[in-house]
Amino acid sequence: MSTVSDVNGPGRPLRITALAGGVGGARFLRGLLAHLAASPDPARREAVVTVVGNTADDVTFHGLRISPDLDSVMYTLGGGIDEERGWGRAQETSGVAAELAAYGAGPSWFTLGDKDIATHLVRTRMLAEGATLSEVTAHLCERWRPGVRLLPMTDDVVQTHVDLADGPGGALRRVHFQEWWVRLHAAVPAVRIEAVGAAAATPAPGVLDALGGADVVVLPPSNPVVSIGTVLQVPGVRQALVETAAPVVGVSPVIAGAPVRGMADACLSAIGVPTTAAAVAGLYADFLDGWLIAEGDEAPDRPGLAVRRRPLLMSSPAATADLAGAALDLAGEITDRERAA
Ligand code: GDP
Ligand code: CA
Repeated sequence: MSTVSDVNGPGRPLRITALAGGVGGARFLRGLLAHLAASPDPARREAVVTVVGNTADDVTFHGLRISPDLDSVMYTLGGGIDEERGWGRAQETSGVAAELAAYGAGPSWFTLGDKDIATHLVRTRMLAEGATLSEVTAHLCERWRPGVRLLPMTDDVVQTHVDLADGPGGALRRVHFQEWWVRLHAAVPAVRIEAVGAAAATPAPGVLDALGGADVVVLPPSNPVVSIGTVLQVPGVRQALVETAAPVVGVSPVIAGAPVRGMADACLSAIGVPTTAAAVAGLYADFLDGWLIAEGDEAPDRPGLAVRRRPLLMSSPAATADLAGAALDLAGEITDRERAA
């Protein structure tokens, strides 16, 4: 069987671009890098991976600019992640949080570990000195060496806000995504989810080129609304996905009608989309070429879409590497099919 690498001519490293949220995206990307490193195919082994990270979860607490999704990718790929939680630093302590609590300085529901705070201090200081978020992220990655080029989706401020109908008499109140997600565990139904600032944002340097110039574009099983969905709202990104010559392949974050981790079902409900692998594919219908779903899940009814059933649980590094390999194999099949047509 030929592989997608053939499209480059033999031996040229594959250019892979992935969109990513936080924990789900990061775990998948770690599997992708493991798969590539172990591949017998030199085009895969020497592949160059660019990650376009969601920044709409970004939030400022205590004056510190926090980029949870970029940090989850950076720490996970750089070996600094707390494996059990899936986010934040390993061997973390909470001395600063305890001191803040003693001052009654909230929010008490958002955990900031001591080590993690150093990241936010560096980010906040650099931004205050005039650096862009892209520059800050590149600088932080000099330490973590994540093995990918990590780009924020935009250098502009975009923040996901959520309208909740739990005010007096059902009145709407608007909260930052983090308050809904972390404080309320998305238990209060969202009436509306809006990526504030997205429509006026500019893609960060390199983002559109990374999509247009890729050999393969991968959508990890990140949250389709507040991770992938917000990246797609940055003007130009969706169009770049429609126009790229690269096959766009995705992994469903939904198995058997439920998200694997977290509350993505609450996000899908808010935008009126059922929590099924097929419905999530529908959100990407204008650009998606291939879709991996779990055994037993129903395939989307779309003639042009190549669907494969694979084990989708990222239950171990090896299983995750296999899943990433399956995504690249599917991309290869699509490329071969298009060239034969
Ligand atoms: P967040 O920003 O930290 O919420 O992380 P992401 O948006 O990148 O990923 C969250 C999504 O990952 C959730 O919607 C989960 O359904 C999905 N997810 C988590 N673990 C797995 C897994 O093992 N397999 C699959 N297919 N999806 C997963
Ligand atoms: Ca996130």
